[in-house]
Amino acid sequence: MLQQTQVATVLPYYKEWLRRFPGFAALARAPENDVLHAWQGLGYYARARNLHATAKIVVDGHRGRFPREIGEMQDLPGIGKYTAHAIATFAFDRPVPIVEANVSRVLSRLFDLRKPIDSTPGQNALWNYAAPLVPRTLAADYNSALLDLGATICSPRGPKCKICPVKKFCSAKDPASLPIKRARPRTKHLIERHALLIRQNKILLQSAERRWRGMWVLPQLDRHHKGINGAIYSSNFPFTNHRITLQIFPTKTRALRNRTERWFEFGELNSIPIPSPHRRAINALLN
Ligand code: SF4
Repeated sequence: MLQQTQVATVLPYYKEWLRRFPGFAALARAPENDVLHAWQGLGYYARARNLHATAKIVVDGHRGRFPREIGEMQDLPGIGKYTAHAIATFAFDRPVPIVEANVSRVLSRLFDLRKPIDSTPGQNALWNYAAPLVPRTLAADYNSALLDLGATICSPRGPKCKICPVKKFCSAKDPASLPIKRARPRTKHLIERHALLIRQNKILLQSAERRWRGMWVLPQLDRHHKGINGAIYSSNFPFTNHRITLQIFPTKTRALRNRTERWFEFGELNSIPIPSPHRRAINALLN
């Protein structure tokens, strides 16, 4: 949950998730609909699908016990090098390094790394710097401390070098200029047009594909649907390197177009997974 999402946002979701799915067996048994419903509002739904798939593999392939070996962890869906190392150190207190955004910043400054940290050579350098620093004991405490150092002292802008506890080891000549990153791809703007169809306290929704697969959204209109003027709702939301404008158009009631569409009672809407931009639109329009 914490990938790409801040702790304060995650906490209520984490508690509710553990209440609904207190272990791998409960998560593995749950229908995808319930899993996505518990995740809605957090975004990046691939994480929920990966957790669900991982729970099934742990139950079926590891007799319900999460693997202890980093290589085996990395075979699980959605678990890369960083996540496997984070689990190994925080869950099992293994003396292994972790390299994420905060740690990357601290290490790139400590070692005055002049390579982009989001390039393969930069990543390799960071993991090589990180490994020999990890103590044999209390590795979880050490890794937590390094994360906190990055979050509170060695901050992105205005690092507090005067009070930094590792100042005497630091090679950075111009800390604020580090870390170096590659240029970001330019943000692209997309317009997505959807329909509002209402009939006797029911609303027509469509089972989403691709980005929100397994969730319910307002029915999509084709790309040539006529312009902005007829829209009764418009809002913007970010998605990876896109800025998406969601426009909703009132549409006359019609027969179901295909099997991916279904009528839902208004009272059912809270119990089905709907991505946040569409839920905000539905709430605004129904209110
Ligand atoms: S001395 Fe400054 S740049 Fe170096 S690690 Fe500490 S806060 Fe970061």
